[in-house]
Amino acid sequence: ANFESLGLSEWASETCKELGMRKPTPVQTHCIPKILSGRDVLGLAQTGSGKTAAFALPILNRLAEDPYGVFALVVTPTRELAFQLAEQFKALGSCLNLRCSVIVGGMDMLTQTRSLISRPHVVITTPGRIKVLLENNPDVPPVFSRTKFLVLDEADRVLDFLVLDEADRVLDVGFQDELRTIFNCLPKTRQTLLFSATMTSNLQTLLEHSSNKAYFYEA
Ligand code: AMP
Repeated sequence: ANFESLGLSEWASETCKELGMRKPTPVQTHCIPKILSGRDVLGLAQTGSGKTAAFALPILNRLAEDPYGVFALVVTPTRELAFQLAEQFKALGSCLNLRCSVIVGGMDMLTQTRSLISRPHVVITTPGRIKVLLENNPDVPPVFSRTKFLVLDEADRVLDFLVLDEADRVLDVGFQDELRTIFNCLPKTRQTLLFSATMTSNLQTLLEHSSNKAYFYEA
């Protein structure tokens, strides 16, 4: 199989070639067509399997078709992973005019506010930081208020994709408060993509509460 036969556009498969990705890895072969078709996906795959491109490519493909509609929120356990994910999104989306924001702890609020006001297509964040942004914290600029950040209740801005990268770690007990806040703020109509090294009971619970039946991939 090649990237185009999975349903991706020519520009996407050309970009993959330029990045030295000659053919799709198994997680990409199985998950990309399902994500393009609109399904929720749970992929059990290790780092190094190509799982990042497995979700980034179909998100970027959709973005290129509908530049006004796509807004993806990617939650990952650590700052380092957030920056690595952003690098991959930028590399894979290098021929798009992609706006990608990394919103993590340790960054000043002004920079983050500016970055969010620019209406990024993809926001990559950690659970702790997004909780701060979503809560009605009087110390946080208005753009971060529950209704303004992500602008979820405005017709022109819906969340198309929620991605939990390293979902087992994101859903770890230490993050449950943060996750509840996030899920309470998100629209119900969205595609949820979970990628995890291991299956955990938290993941199981999340899937049971999801309205769509997820496609399950295991390496
Ligand atoms: P990940 O599993 O997402 O952490 O990806 C690990 C590394 O594999 C990244 O540096 C990617 O650039 C690379 N990679 C992803 N997909 C492919 C592919 N189809 N062929 C070759 N390398 C790839």
